[in-house]
Amino acid sequence: MNNLKRYVIAADMGTTSVKTLLVDRQGTVVHAHSVFYPMSTPSPEIAEQDPDQMADAVLEGIRQLLLESNANADEILCVSFSAAMHSLLAVDDEGAPLTPLITWADNRSAAYAEELKRSGRGKEIYERTGTPIHPMSPLVKLLWLREHEPEVFAKAGKFIGIKEYVFFRLFGSYVVDHSSASATGLLHMHTLTWDSLALSTAGIGEDRLSKPVSASHREVGLPLWAVQRTGLAADTPFVIGAADGPLANLGAGAVVPGSWALTVGTSGAVRTTVSAPLADPMSRLFCYALADGLWTVGGAINNGGILFRWTRDVLATQEAEEGLRRGMDPYDYLTELAHEVPPGSDGLIFLPYLLGERSPYWNSNARGVFFGLSMSHSKNHMIRAVMEGVVYGLHSVAAALEELTGSATEVRASGGFARSPLWRQMLADVLGKSVHVMDSVESSGVGAAYLGLWAMGEVPDLTGIRDWTRVQDSHSPDPATGELYRELTDQFDRLYERLAPEFDVIAQFQAR
Ligand code: ADP
Repeated sequence: MNNLKRYVIAADMGTTSVKTLLVDRQGTVVHAHSVFYPMSTPSPEIAEQDPDQMADAVLEGIRQLLLESNANADEILCVSFSAAMHSLLAVDDEGAPLTPLITWADNRSAAYAEELKRSGRGKEIYERTGTPIHPMSPLVKLLWLREHEPEVFAKAGKFIGIKEYVFFRLFGSYVVDHSSASATGLLHMHTLTWDSLALSTAGIGEDRLSKPVSASHREVGLPLWAVQRTGLAADTPFVIGAADGPLANLGAGAVVPGSWALTVGTSGAVRTTVSAPLADPMSRLFCYALADGLWTVGGAINNGGILFRWTRDVLATQEAEEGLRRGMDPYDYLTELAHEVPPGSDGLIFLPYLLGERSPYWNSNARGVFFGLSMSHSKNHMIRAVMEGVVYGLHSVAAALEELTGSATEVRASGGFARSPLWRQMLADVLGKSVHVMDSVESSGVGAAYLGLWAMGEVPDLTGIRDWTRVQDSHSPDPATGELYRELTDQFDRLYERLAPEFDVIAQFQAR
């Protein structure tokens, strides 16, 4: 062990900011710094970012981290990266951007996703690549780009993601970690090489993509300008790392069989780690590489905590104001009101699909429904039903995950929803599993830091990260309440199936 090198720097390139973390060998985040960058959304379909601004933010984030923490450049073992998945950037033969960075949230390729799914080829590509056919996927974005920007498409020397751009700017080579590559819809899961069917569908050869490398791949030899910009030593290794979703599982310690990581922030996700790539025969879940022979299987939902925000801002504004008048966080007050209603909301079921849904249905036409509403239901019932509806949505994903990967022995939970003890207990009761609330808020970054240690040969494998994680609070499922919720989740799933054709009709009506 190289004791002089006390710290790893993690650079976690998210959607709104890059977070740089200074992490010591015990897993303590000694210091953190965020540099924000904007998302350009000139229309609801478009979600683009400036790749140079983002690459500059990484260097600035490292510089500020070193300055603010007083860490010495020669104490840094390595810099290790996490980045948001699914971004696409076309660059010319010199590496200059020909497009903005088209992010996961950009929806312009929606019609191409639908067409690919309808053709049947979509399912085949999903089964080979593990990436759902969805407008987030760079494969689908390429289909859009080819038709809408044919000149850019023809001129592009490479199609890359944001992390590849950062590494190219620093080290002059195009490399992509297997993890980020596996989320492009273009990488064959089993061979870890570019997939011929996906590439022929996109109309590109592999010469127009980066070289896939292991997450432990590192570049050494920081150019002088970057040494000056960051304050790092020139020989600090840069570890390419992995994608933020799989790294969040690593950072949460959900890297052993039966351990799930569940997050509910604005959106939500449930994921587990498996030791071989695994496609879902029903195409409900994704499968992305992590590192070291580990894979992340799971599903993301659109309708997470944002529905509690909608409850606060639209459904229960008066109640939220009352909370404020009482000097409380409105969410805490709404939680109190929900607490007055028994589990199951006296038979009021809420389908939470206000934003359409990703896992398990991948249906952008899905919509919200209050079902079973009667005169005996109060506003408090509705508030509780919304919280339950979000959990029911997660339950549908969890059921698919369980079917594919086996049963969970623990659920490691994080995100804004965990501030509500009622919501956490609801999750335990609905899933029928123990829920542990983790105290780390920076799981992707912490995961990247541990991956850095592993890449440098300082730890033998990735599962040791469980020594870094701390459980803050635990909830056990109540069997009687679980029984009641089982009836309601069965009906919830049936309701979705029965309403699916009607969602298409109303979505079309709304689009008129
Ligand atoms: P993100 O980083 O994705 O924006 P956060 O982790 O900040 O998400 O959480 C945002 C969501 O968390 C809110 O929309 C709300 O649903 C939930 N939340 C935040 N505070 C509370 C609270 N005190 N009680 C219940 N839920 C909360």
